[in-house]
Amino acid sequence: MPNPFSKSESLFAASKKYIPGGVNSPVRAFKSVGGTPVFIDKAKGAYLYDVDGNSYVDLINSWGPMILGHAHPEVIEAVTQQIKKSFTYGTPTSLELDMAKLMCDIVPGLEMVRMVNSGTEACMSAVRLARGYTGKKKIVKFAGCYHGHHDSFLVEAGSGALTLGSPNSPGVPEETAANTLIAEYNDLASVQALFSKHDDIACVILEPVAGNMGCILPKDGFLHELKALCHKNGALFIMDEVMTGFRLAPGGAQEYFDIQADIICFGKIIGGGMPVGAFGGRKEIFEHLAPLGPVYQAGTLSGNPVAMTAGITTLTILKNTPSIYTELTETVKNLHQSLGEILSEKGIAHHINSIGSMISIFYTDREVHSYGDAKTTDTELFGRLFHHGLKSGIYLPPSNYESWFLGKDIKDKEVEKILETFKTF
Ligand code: PMP
Repeated sequence: MPNPFSKSESLFAASKKYIPGGVNSPVRAFKSVGGTPVFIDKAKGAYLYDVDGNSYVDLINSWGPMILGHAHPEVIEAVTQQIKKSFTYGTPTSLELDMAKLMCDIVPGLEMVRMVNSGTEACMSAVRLARGYTGKKKIVKFAGCYHGHHDSFLVEAGSGALTLGSPNSPGVPEETAANTLIAEYNDLASVQALFSKHDDIACVILEPVAGNMGCILPKDGFLHELKALCHKNGALFIMDEVMTGFRLAPGGAQEYFDIQADIICFGKIIGGGMPVGAFGGRKEIFEHLAPLGPVYQAGTLSGNPVAMTAGITTLTILKNTPSIYTELTETVKNLHQSLGEILSEKGIAHHINSIGSMISIFYTDREVHSYGDAKTTDTELFGRLFHHGLKSGIYLPPSNYESWFLGKDIKDKEVEKILETFKTF
């Protein structure tokens, strides 16, 4: 039988000579599922098309940005018109004003916003601003939450939730890691314990719905109680909405859970597929940012006109089409129910978490509310399922610790294909 992935395999072999590990972001290398990464040539709507001519129902969604589906005609048209006016000027543009107004209009509590080029930049700048604003040094993050690859975030609990962090990548100085304290997701007492021990905590940062240890929902009241705890202790409450922003609802987790963070980080959807991030929040805090205030932050391509155009067009469509959210939620509810039934019939232990257009299956018999719970999943079984998916024409995220993201073009036909893949596993 001819090898259906032969072109991907030779491209990967060649890439490894010039690019570390053959990829520009580690999860793409399929390390946790084994095998050779598939090289994608193009995408349209709900489908990815690889260099060998195979097609896949796309459940990665470029890790979240493509909620409108790939190559949306309105976004392409707007970007094409903008490109004709050049790619970047390094000056203010009215597009940046349009973008900031649109975001502040849609997201509850957002008064000012600064554009950057990635989610990492958004989160690292948010933390710098929190430190500058409060004059305090330490930050609290939750085990299993990801906020980009800045030094302060590459830290997890070494020996239990209440210890000082130790770096989990060479190259991160211990002094930096020591300023990142680790708490347990959905465990308020673990945060309280850190506040009791340290009086120099500038902020707590979290994913309001975690997507980077698989999809994990906040327990009822967790976000509100956490915010109150932060404020009682003079720390800022930062919600990293890089994944959830404009995905859970137009106003993201702020709208979905009726809560307002002091600083909110964005990425993914706001760029419509272009490299964009942003951080924003209350005016009184953002007046501390350069050039208004002393906390420095800058970027050659920040607010890039082509990226702003892709983002503005995407957000405008989302704002004007609330049915996108209701339909996606229905689709995910249906998937949650049907996949649960299929896995139960097969006798495969599982626990499914889902919300809005995010869903994860953990192959474990326990409920999953934290990183510790998530780590009980059977990654070997997931690896086999992942490759069965590729051969059957569905593209799952290549790690069990990543949420699936659905785009609006995943409809009955695509759901059927996903269910069929699980039935034939
Ligand atoms: N925060 C969250 C919640 C994320 O999911 C990610 C990326 N997956 C980031 C921050 C970092 O974003 P980027 O990869 O654009 O730097």
